[in-house]
Amino acid sequence: MQYIERKSMLYKTGVEYGDYTMNHVQGCSHGCKYPCYAFLMAKRFGRVHTYEAWCSPVLVSNTLELLDKEIPRLKSKIQSVQLCFTTDPFMYGYPEITEMSIAAIRKLNAAGIKCTALTKGLLPVELSEMSLENEYGITLVSLDEEYRQRMEPGAAPYKERLDALRALHDAGCKTWVSIEPYPTPNLIEQSLQELLSAVSFTDRIIFGRTNYNKEVSSYRSHREFYNKYAKEVIRFCEEHKIAFHIKDGTITER
Ligand code: SF4
Repeated sequence: MQYIERKSMLYKTGVEYGDYTMNHVQGCSHGCKYPCYAFLMAKRFGRVHTYEAWCSPVLVSNTLELLDKEIPRLKSKIQSVQLCFTTDPFMYGYPEITEMSIAAIRKLNAAGIKCTALTKGLLPVELSEMSLENEYGITLVSLDEEYRQRMEPGAAPYKERLDALRALHDAGCKTWVSIEPYPTPNLIEQSLQELLSAVSFTDRIIFGRTNYNKEVSSYRSHREFYNKYAKEVIRFCEEHKIAFHIKDGTITER
C-alpha cells in the first residue's frame, strides 16, 4: 500500500444528492470501465497519468488527524458526510482502506455527524455497531459476473457485495443501492426486474443512465430505453414502498 499526506479532507460536494464528502484515497483498484468519471477527472487534472496508476490506490495517511482538525470547525454546517465521491471506501482486497474508513466513520459519528457510504467492495459487518443514522450502499448494475469482470474488474463479486449489504440490513442498518451506470442492451441483455427483486430489501434505490460511453450513446434508442426503465424503477419502488431517486438526465421525457 502506498501513502500520501494531504492538507484537507472534508469538502462540500456539488452533486444532486449529498452534502459533505471525504476522499481519503487517491485512485481505485476497482478500475471500472464504464468509464469511471473520477478517473477521467484525475487524468484531466494531471493527478494520475495512466489506468494502471489509477488502479494502484494511495491512502491518505493523515486522514484521522485532518478530521480531528476539521470536524470542530465544520460540524455545525454538516448534515452528512458521504464516503466517498472520487474513490471507494471499502476497496476490495485492501484492509488498510477499510480500517481507515471505519475509523473515520467512528470519528464523525462521535461528533454527531451522520455518514453515508457507497462501495463496489464489501461493507464490513462492524458498521452495524455504528450510528443507526448512517446509510450503507452498494453499486449494483447487473447480476451477471461476466459483466462485472468486464466492467468492474477489481471490484467485489456481485453476490458477495449483496450478501454484505443484506447482513447490515438484517442487523437493523439503513441500506441503499445505486443502480448506476445502468447499461443499455448493446452492453448486456439482462432483466431489470430480476435486479430490482435482488435489492428489494433495501430502503432506497437510485437509478441512473450511463454517461461518457460511446457505445451507450450510439445505441439507437437509448433515450427511450432509459425513459422506460426509469419508469419501471419508479413503479417497482412505489409498489414495494422503497424510497427512490432517478438521477438527472436519465428521464428525458415527462
Ligand atoms: S469503484 Fe467508483 S471510483 Fe472506483 S473505479 Fe469504479 S467508478 Fe471509479
